[in-house]
Amino acid sequence: MIRLFLPDSPNLAEGVAITLPPDPSRYLATVMRKGPGDEILVFNGRDGEWRARIDALGKKSVTIVAEGQTRAQPAGQGPVLLVALIKRARLETIVEKATELGASKIQLLITRRSNSDHTNVERLTLIAREAAEQTERLDVPDILAPVKLDRLLDDLDYTAVFFGDEDSTHEGDRGTLPMLKAIKGSDPSRSAILIGPEGGFDDDERRRLRGLPNVHPVNLGPRILRADTAAISALTLFQAAAGDWK
Ligand code: SAH
Repeated sequence: MIRLFLPDSPNLAEGVAITLPPDPSRYLATVMRKGPGDEILVFNGRDGEWRARIDALGKKSVTIVAEGQTRAQPAGQGPVLLVALIKRARLETIVEKATELGASKIQLLITRRSNSDHTNVERLTLIAREAAEQTERLDVPDILAPVKLDRLLDDLDYTAVFFGDEDSTHEGDRGTLPMLKAIKGSDPSRSAILIGPEGGFDDDERRRLRGLPNVHPVNLGPRILRADTAAISALTLFQAAAGDWK
């Protein structure tokens, strides 16, 4: 059944009529050729998932009526993904996979070696929205415009940040499994995963990161992973050890 994310919809409750914006209206009426009486699923990121029936097809808009809640809005939140700007195609892959893997937000970062200092946040937001509809999430992760890593580290407000340290050959470094213990104890809604750019973190960045009390280097195995592989692997580790992969 078609699932639509309606971020600006009124609160969803039984009998609430919603006139859809032009894009979803066109999608339902023209692309999917739906008509009055047809059922769809809608969610707005706040009220869970609702079954709704198409009530009327206007010239430019479709009106639906919410009939019954099919799923409650999940309480917990996943970890935030902090990711350096890399080439567009792989960044789009990261946004789609992080959405499927339950990241609550994706904060784009500019680091000393990131590929650029800007990207198309609007396009990434659309990708996150489509991925959320497909993966049957009941919320869509916000894609936050790029900020400098140093700025972010100045006022870090997470209880735990796990950063993929490709140079984790430091003395005293533990393998991934012992690392899981550090991850296991963390609160997903207050945790973040940090992945560097194709060029990796530079020595100053790594030194600063390793010096921060609630920042933990994570070893993602003996091979150098591409940033998209690293983001997917780190999110998988986290969700399995501390997140909603119960
Ligand atoms: N160009 C760098 C690799 C960067 S890979 C080099 O050759 O050393 C991009 C990002 O993925 C890294 O900054 C890191 O966050 C993550 N990553 C890749 N492989 C990793 C590994 N084996 N362990 C931990 N993090 C890794």
